[in-house]
Amino acid sequence: MAIFPCDWNAHRYPGKQRSAYVISAYGEDLETTKLRLCEGHFHDFTQLVQEDMARVDEDSSVSGSCDICDKDKNFAVYVKLFDLAQEPDYYAADLCARCWQDLRVKLKVASGKAMAAR
Ligand SMILES: [Zn+2]
Ligand SMILES: [Zn+2]
Repeated sequence: MAIFPCDWNAHRYPGKQRSAYVISAYGEDLETTKLRLCEGHFHDFTQLVQEDMARVDEDSSVSGSCDICDKDKNFAVYVKLFDLAQEPDYYAADLCARCWQDLRVKLKVASGKAMAAR
């Protein structure tokens, strides 16, 4: 049983916990949030991430404009997904302030636990 409730809508569940980290960089400022998720909501979360973000691989490019609306980008956003006993998957997007706010809401970043900045 997972000790911590699922952050998606604060419910308890019997299975193992999955984790997702959402990291946003604005200039030198980093904000990291950890979400503890049950299996079902981890899969929902992964699907939402895949709608707006690209999986990071060897030749991922960095763009100067927002990946969603093409305005100037302000934020570099990363998501690290830890499924059980798997190597983490990394996703990234370059976003303008507005699209990052929308994505923040969609991914329920405010429900997660803010991690200390490093
Ligand atoms: Zn859940
Ligand atoms: Zn945008």
